[in-house]
Amino acid sequence: MKIRNIILPLTGIAAVSCSNAGEELPNIIYVFPDQFRISSLAFWDSPEYEGAVNWKADPVQTPNLDSFADESLVLNSAVSTCPLSSPHRGMLLTGMYPERNGVTLNCMALRPESTLNPEATCISDVLDEAGYYCGYIGKLHAETPMKNDPANPGHYVSDRNPEWDAYTPPERRHGFRYWYSYGTFDVHKDPHYWDTEGVRHDPKEYSVKHETDKAIEFLRNANGERDADKPFFLMLAYNPPHSPYECMDDCMEEDYDLYRNMGYNELYVRPNADTTLAKAPSARYYFANVTGVDREFGRLLAELKKLGLDDNTIVIFTSDHGETMCSQGTLDPKNSIYTESYCVPFMIRYPDRVRHRIDSTMLCSVDIMPTLLGLTGLEERIPDSVEGRDLSPVFLEDGRECDVPDATLYIRNLDGEKDADGIVHGIFPEARGVRTDRYTMEIAIDRDKKLSRVLIFDDWNDPYQMENIPYTENSELFAELCRTLDRKLEESNDIWHREGILDKLLAQ
Ligand code: CA
Repeated sequence: MKIRNIILPLTGIAAVSCSNAGEELPNIIYVFPDQFRISSLAFWDSPEYEGAVNWKADPVQTPNLDSFADESLVLNSAVSTCPLSSPHRGMLLTGMYPERNGVTLNCMALRPESTLNPEATCISDVLDEAGYYCGYIGKLHAETPMKNDPANPGHYVSDRNPEWDAYTPPERRHGFRYWYSYGTFDVHKDPHYWDTEGVRHDPKEYSVKHETDKAIEFLRNANGERDADKPFFLMLAYNPPHSPYECMDDCMEEDYDLYRNMGYNELYVRPNADTTLAKAPSARYYFANVTGVDREFGRLLAELKKLGLDDNTIVIFTSDHGETMCSQGTLDPKNSIYTESYCVPFMIRYPDRVRHRIDSTMLCSVDIMPTLLGLTGLEERIPDSVEGRDLSPVFLEDGRECDVPDATLYIRNLDGEKDADGIVHGIFPEARGVRTDRYTMEIAIDRDKKLSRVLIFDDWNDPYQMENIPYTENSELFAELCRTLDRKLEESNDIWHREGILDKLLAQ
């Protein structure tokens, strides 16, 4: 795959027409840092927004995201269905649940079965076919590592044991013709990437800045980074504010300085946080990376405007899942149904088409792909394989009918059986849950598929989820939430539905 080696003019790069439909299609930029939680946006505490959520914003500085929100549709109830990197990314790309798209667990070499099905139709496959030029920059983490290092054939890209990082060869890029990506790697100031041609780059600078520079190059197109005759779709997947968040190697000092002198009483505004945990100092580095992302996102938006592309570009800002950061007494930042982990920021800016407002639509991971296609006017091209909903009629307010969800499904899978070599086979579907407009419920099982725990929270009256409502003493509420869960399990053809796990638990 060759990048076009011609000089294209800086002007005339605005998006344009679809060769198929003959109508103007918008560009799309989809920005999703990793582990960026919904409360790490300062605007939630400002007068317009504070009534839209019943928890406090983190004490972060996010001036660019605050301004962006004022021009966007801001969701307060979007969730990451299976709040882990790889499963979310599989759903995001395909609109299919993990059991169908292949990505059931976080991808690494001991989990070879968990990998994006090369045959699955991704959003980039559809957009490429529809006349878009698609680019991917940053963390992918949706494929099992393979022994395909372009510089060292027959070997993994590094010698970590087990290997987590991965190189994605052109035949597995699903319509992304511009490539500057890696699998997963967590050294924020020493990142690396493989480009379209498979050449590795080690830029030795803060990854968020470097990836923004690459995205700006893609926008400017000074070196023919993309086909200027086509509208573009760019996914920009920052790794920060993902861990590590322990020292100055993990963030920019200018950002850390904003939080350096804040005590735990200022840093931790959520009363469910346990600041005696060893992780407690991490909040300063985490918030520093939130501000780092904010600054670079602002730089990207400024360039978009400067190039005159902002009017016809849909820009989305979200994340793959949240971060507990000492809340709920857990050291696991994700993979739980708690608000801090499960709920994500989601903002859509589409000038003149999507009106600025706060919206409580319960968007989940599998809805994103069909909704993006709907926003671009390509709803006819949503593949039959998609299991999520096209919620674009709600966002565009265009009068089309739309089946708006009344709850979201939660999925937690753990490793299935391991063989003598430590290779994981299958999944253990440890927990399923739902979130409605008022309640959160999770039901977990042990390896014998016996009930191990039920969590029920009243998110209206207990926004920090500090009181688990005993299910045995609230049988009507429990039964109602189980009916909702049962419906969501059936709708998603989940293993809990196919194996009758919920029914058996309720019969016990
Ligand atoms: Ca992640």
